[in-house]
Amino acid sequence: MGTESKPLKIYMLPFFAQGHLIPLVNLARLVASKNQHVTIITTPSNAQLFDKTIEEEKAAGHHIRVHIIKFPSAQLGLPTGVENLFAASDNQTAGKIHMAAHFVKADIEEFMKENPPDVFISDIIFTWSESTAKNLQIPRLVFNPISIFDVCMIQAIQSHPESFVSDSGPYQIHGLPHPLTLPIKPSPGFARLTESLIEAENDSHGVIVNSFAELDEGYTEYYENLTGRKVWHVGPTSLMVEIPKKKKVVSTENDSSITKHQSLTWLDTKEPSSVLYISFGSLCRLSNEQLKEMANGIEASKHQFLWVVHGKEGEDEDNWLPKGFVERMKEEKKGMLIKGWVPQALILDHPSIGGFLTHCGWNATVEAISSGVPMVTMPGFGDQYYNEKLVTEVHRIGVEVGAAEWSMSPYDAKKTVVRAERIEKAVKKLMDSNGEGGEIRKRAKEMKEKAWKAVQEGGSSQNCLTKLVDYLHSVVVTKSVELN
Ligand code: UDP
Repeated sequence: MGTESKPLKIYMLPFFAQGHLIPLVNLARLVASKNQHVTIITTPSNAQLFDKTIEEEKAAGHHIRVHIIKFPSAQLGLPTGVENLFAASDNQTAGKIHMAAHFVKADIEEFMKENPPDVFISDIIFTWSESTAKNLQIPRLVFNPISIFDVCMIQAIQSHPESFVSDSGPYQIHGLPHPLTLPIKPSPGFARLTESLIEAENDSHGVIVNSFAELDEGYTEYYENLTGRKVWHVGPTSLMVEIPKKKKVVSTENDSSITKHQSLTWLDTKEPSSVLYISFGSLCRLSNEQLKEMANGIEASKHQFLWVVHGKEGEDEDNWLPKGFVERMKEEKKGMLIKGWVPQALILDHPSIGGFLTHCGWNATVEAISSGVPMVTMPGFGDQYYNEKLVTEVHRIGVEVGAAEWSMSPYDAKKTVVRAERIEKAVKKLMDSNGEGGEIRKRAKEMKEKAWKAVQEGGSSQNCLTKLVDYLHSVVVTKSVELN
């Protein structure tokens, strides 16, 4: 039904953070490619991050546009242009950007009243969208940027408090399709936060995730039984947007995909699968002590590396790197250090990348899986402690450095530093040619095959996208029959 009948007018509202914005903009592109009319609602600086991509989509004949709303900078006391969590480096600024998600409500409601869409798809953070959609009688779906597996973990942990009485881990998680453990106690604060967000899915027609059905095997049923809500697996979105053009994904930042990024040129000089890519996503700011330990661990592993660090632009390297590290790295041609944004999906796809030392952000995890890159996991905050388990214990496509403590914020320095020896050991385990890494690398390649199959015509994610569009048409038809 969906793709041939009259196009639907669909509004999508991404939250102001790269890990939310990138996959929802990709989803908007995918839905528009199914002949629907999509409008992304966002603020000026956030729009700049993907405006070139939108122009390309328009040039390809897709109906996709951006509606700009004001960012409440003055109300929040934020400098002009600071509209994305990527620009924050402390809890206060981040808190204000989260608050902005509530402050934009009035403008968005006014716009929607004047120009009502057929369907509203909002990021899970916009908890007010439930009442807005109800008042305007518009069907709503929720985009959840974290994994369905995480919600299952949180629920299983809450149902078995007896597993967490001991003062030290590992803690067994009961009641899930796999026997799982957590090295540290989860923060009750994170469970409460997640619960309130999951409640925000109430009254929605279902939740859309940036994942593919095979990755959540066993957990989707668990989630649907638990919440009574439907899950739409439309991902990995970074892979799905590549398919029609048969070219690499366009990064949502500047011109990194147009001019070849220096990291990719450097990788061209390296042997296949020989380089460890290191990145902690767009938000994590590790303490100087932790960065030094990391540098020592990487150097001791003797593997080559491409290390991306955010938040250290302009700061003297002697503050956060061991003495002589940069000089040795250059002399021995062992590594490359980049301060600033890189085209991550392209880097992970480069044949020279052999492993990924990651904070386990959900997008990073799915991108690594899409490229068949096995991971060394070192979660930074929030849901990342659960994502690590999906990688290391469910699918066994990574080696755990593990966490020393559960943090709710990407900025606060942790009391317990993860020591260099642990990092060195995990990197060697994955990257050494004679170690246990072989099986892990093999499974990562098999998982990549599953991801690629899912996004091809007839694959699970492509089918899910078609079914999603059909479903949206059916709820809109039902609504108009009810109103008449
Ligand atoms: N990203 C990127 N370049 C960078 C840092 C991050 O392209 O230098 C992208 C990354 O590919 C991912 C997103 O930003 O799509 C970050 O989301 P994730 O869930 O991995 O982590 P978060 O930043 O939310 O902690």
